[in-house]
Amino acid sequence: MPAPQLKLPTIQNWNCHSCAGCCRQHEIEITTEEKERIEKQRWDQDESIPTGQPVFVKIGLSPVSNRYRLAHQEDGSCIFLDEKGLCRIHAKFGEPAKPLACQVYPYAFHPAGNDIAVSLRFSCPSVVSNLGKRVDQQSTEIRKIVDQVLPKRRKTPPPPRLTAKESLGWPDTLKVVGSLSQLFQSSETRFLINLLRALAWVELIEQSRFETIRGERLDEFLSLISQAIVQEYPGDLELSRTPISRLGGIQFRLLAAQYARKDTYAEASRGLIRRLSLFRSALKFTLGKGNIPCLQDRFAAVPFSQLEESFGALPSESEKLFARYYRVKIQGLHFLGAAYYDIPFVEGFYHLALMFPAIMWIARWIAVSEGRSTLQVEDVNEAMAIADHHHGYSPVFGMPHFRSRVRNLSRSQDIKKLITWYGL
Ligand code: SF4
Repeated sequence: MPAPQLKLPTIQNWNCHSCAGCCRQHEIEITTEEKERIEKQRWDQDESIPTGQPVFVKIGLSPVSNRYRLAHQEDGSCIFLDEKGLCRIHAKFGEPAKPLACQVYPYAFHPAGNDIAVSLRFSCPSVVSNLGKRVDQQSTEIRKIVDQVLPKRRKTPPPPRLTAKESLGWPDTLKVVGSLSQLFQSSETRFLINLLRALAWVELIEQSRFETIRGERLDEFLSLISQAIVQEYPGDLELSRTPISRLGGIQFRLLAAQYARKDTYAEASRGLIRRLSLFRSALKFTLGKGNIPCLQDRFAAVPFSQLEESFGALPSESEKLFARYYRVKIQGLHFLGAAYYDIPFVEGFYHLALMFPAIMWIARWIAVSEGRSTLQVEDVNEAMAIADHHHGYSPVFGMPHFRSRVRNLSRSQDIKKLITWYGL
């Protein structure tokens, strides 16, 4: 099999700015080889690590488990994070000596036929703020990481399904993904209109049958539905807020709460007391009355109702951020198939479309926590970093109850309403 080409995002910049956010947020599971490599680095003899402090922790309670993760310091940060916010392994032995997961972040690599689509995680503040060198000019560095990630004997995996019932080959699947991405390219049209167009476009894909629509006929079909959608949602369309159905409101609050958490799934599943407190807060999110349970220290206890007021139009910087976010996620195939709980294209896009109201709901919570009723660019940036930490990584989002929540929101047409409700 020929070496895979990298499909890099053309609109994204990134370099690490050593904010240490990822070293404070993630648990890093390590392979046996990585454990052995770190043991040979003799951190037990290094003064920077307190005497007797283990640098690994066993995962799970089973005595036969041989899964390990890096230990954490008392403040929750990685054991190897130093006072200057730098990685001790990196400083002493160079980047290749670190666990592979640390080298890969914030990149995410997904099969695109024989090639590799490169996406990024917006949980990294430098990705959100578009800081650093253009990603498409860093192919040499990225390829070195990809070479370590890819198995030596690699086969082209099957393409993600288009819908629950239909699949196209890789070339046609990539055409559909490419056409969807184009809907976010127009910088002259407001982001909200582009998102509504994309949602309506994907609904048309869901309603169509593709037995005979392949190859050139697919090109024609995609171009026709794109034109139809632009007519349905002209660039100068006046948008207004439409209230969400009662059931839709409950489903959305439960979804947004999941995105607003700071904890990882592993933490959430620890301990009966923890589970009881999660159950109590799920009940409050279902009712949507009184104060919002504080899911993390960042948020104040403010009434649910305060997030339902109009916060006005999106700041123009945030419009640009969302357009970039959707293009990177779509081009990087970061919403379907292998990258996203093996979910088909249509359903995966409904999940991705819901990221917008979820991020906006969290941004409002941040603003209200600081006593404001208008949004600042920083609120949206921070909310995106919080929510995208989970996108495609927290197992709960691929579970049947969560998937059925998203399907219900799509059937009741509430996704569309949520986009304008929290976008205006
Ligand atoms: S969160 Fe991003 S910028 Fe901060 S240390 Fe990690 S990779 Fe670097």
